[in-house]
Amino acid sequence: MTAIAKEEIRKCLKCGKEIGGRRDKKFCSQVCQTQFNALKHYYQHKDEPNFKAKRKVYFDKWRKENREHFNSLLREPNRQYQIKLRKKRVQEGVCLKCGKPRDDGRNYCSKCRAKKAVKEEK
Ligand SMILES: [Zn+2]
Ligand SMILES: [Zn+2]
Repeated sequence: MTAIAKEEIRKCLKCGKEIGGRRDKKFCSQVCQTQFNALKHYYQHKDEPNFKAKRKVYFDKWRKENREHFNSLLREPNRQYQIKLRKKRVQEGVCLKCGKPRDDGRNYCSKCRAKKAVKEEK
């Protein structure tokens, strides 16, 4: 080993932070090591059907346990989508609820109004 090699600054493989201490260390912390290995594991196996199925089960479980959090993640994109959709329908002059042609010039078609779920807007 040359002196230069010894002076070499090693960086964490996960976050790039400089590492002090033992030479064989590849990560700045246990957290980085765990995350890095999890990611490596994921990329090694991500195309295997078994792995996909397992992940799906895991994800479904997580979603069930964190339903409120999950919904809140979707809420804003969903809202944006609704706003966009509505604008488009206003421009096209179709029913704001179902996107079908308006039959009597009101914001919602008679079918949607009949369902009563839709309140006619001013
Ligand atoms: Zn790190
Ligand atoms: Zn409609």
